[in-house]
Amino acid sequence: MDLRYKRKNAYDVYSAEEMEQAYAYCEGYKKFIDASKTERLAVKTAIKIAEEHGFDEFVPGKKYYAGDKIYLNQKKKAAVFAVIGKQSLQSGFLMTAAHIDSPRLDLKPNPLYQDGNLALLKSHYYGGLRKYQWVTIPLALCGTVCKKNGESVDIEIGNCEEDPVFYITDLLPHLASKQAEKKMAEAIPAENLNIVIGSVPDPDAEEDRFKIHFLNLLHNKYGISQEDFFTADLSIVPAEKARDVGLDRSLIGAYGHDDRICAYPAFSALLETTAPEKTCIALLADREEVGSMGITGMQSRFFDMFIEDLCLSEDVNVNRVYRASSCISADVAAAFDPTYQDVFDANSAAYLNYGIVLSKYTGARGKSGASEACPEYMAKLCSVFDQANAMYQFHEMGKVDAGGGGTVSQYIANRNIDVVDIGVPMLSMHAPYELAAKADIYSMYKAMKAFYSL
Ligand code: MN
Ligand code: MN
Repeated sequence: MDLRYKRKNAYDVYSAEEMEQAYAYCEGYKKFIDASKTERLAVKTAIKIAEEHGFDEFVPGKKYYAGDKIYLNQKKKAAVFAVIGKQSLQSGFLMTAAHIDSPRLDLKPNPLYQDGNLALLKSHYYGGLRKYQWVTIPLALCGTVCKKNGESVDIEIGNCEEDPVFYITDLLPHLASKQAEKKMAEAIPAENLNIVIGSVPDPDAEEDRFKIHFLNLLHNKYGISQEDFFTADLSIVPAEKARDVGLDRSLIGAYGHDDRICAYPAFSALLETTAPEKTCIALLADREEVGSMGITGMQSRFFDMFIEDLCLSEDVNVNRVYRASSCISADVAAAFDPTYQDVFDANSAAYLNYGIVLSKYTGARGKSGASEACPEYMAKLCSVFDQANAMYQFHEMGKVDAGGGGTVSQYIANRNIDVVDIGVPMLSMHAPYELAAKADIYSMYKAMKAFYSL
């Protein structure tokens, strides 16, 4: 008997037929991320799909019965989807929690200015991004402007083929000798992430001609003025769409895989869940990339209030419900990169096409700042994934002293809910265009389906 553990490649395990299904499944995913480049767009897209699958908006105080499908829309930036189980909530719920915010450039409160005969917008980056990656690529402007008269206007420019895009400049190599000597982290300071939005002067104005021309265009299309920027949610995201990568088309390049690549499988598995034993929940959280604080983040009580409302209608105690519940914190994992091997421990690294990644703990340097999953719970999930033929592997992000990161799992653990981090492995995490494998996205979908039938 060979007692050694051997990693298996998805292409050696899944049949050609199954792989065909996996690739077909990923077409749905590509559509989903292209439509969901911000948390607002992700919530809008997910709710639209959920409604088509018979989900209704949650009404606090209403009594729900087995098989009912409901969703909570949290400020249009986070959402909870639930299918009510046959058993009482007392026996706990099964929840997946993924996040739908991704690193991006938010506009500053008063972003518009002109300089050098161009109109520009100043940005403030959101989340852990490498600033030098965001220059000289096509960018889109997405968000919502809420006017003082109560109206709100959705803006999305740059995501359609026929739209114009926006752009951040960088120095030409000919004049970059001084910049080239800087450290990577300092080469592009945050105050250089200025977005070029126009170059035509207003023919009638004497001052601020470039600003005024841009404001006129914006006003004609959306009826807004410069003052409306102060309160708006406006973000700059990469304009590129998701595309197959590799001659074999086995990979997908896209903006915002982290973490829509886990949100989509978790959510689509829930959509197919009918008449479950236990109540099944897919939570799409916002603010994970900045620490989960804020009214739409996992540290907010909005989720507890939703569960408390469900508990009230059954007259059960929320703490007992939490204690009996299980959660998968569905978030991406860093995959081994052959070009940057030195930051990984090859034995404890995850690899593309080797299945979803279970992370017993996250954190950095001495497991600092993270919760750790219980072995009983992890082993139980592994057994379920085995039965469902959902491929999985284990990892920690990189070498111990190389760094680390966190997820929403610690905030779920704080509620006394069993939780473990599970997600799709990927390369170039937090870059404007990230890379992941179709086989792993499919494994995630299979695993989430199996979880909901626990
Ligand atoms: Mn993430
Ligand atoms: Mn992230």
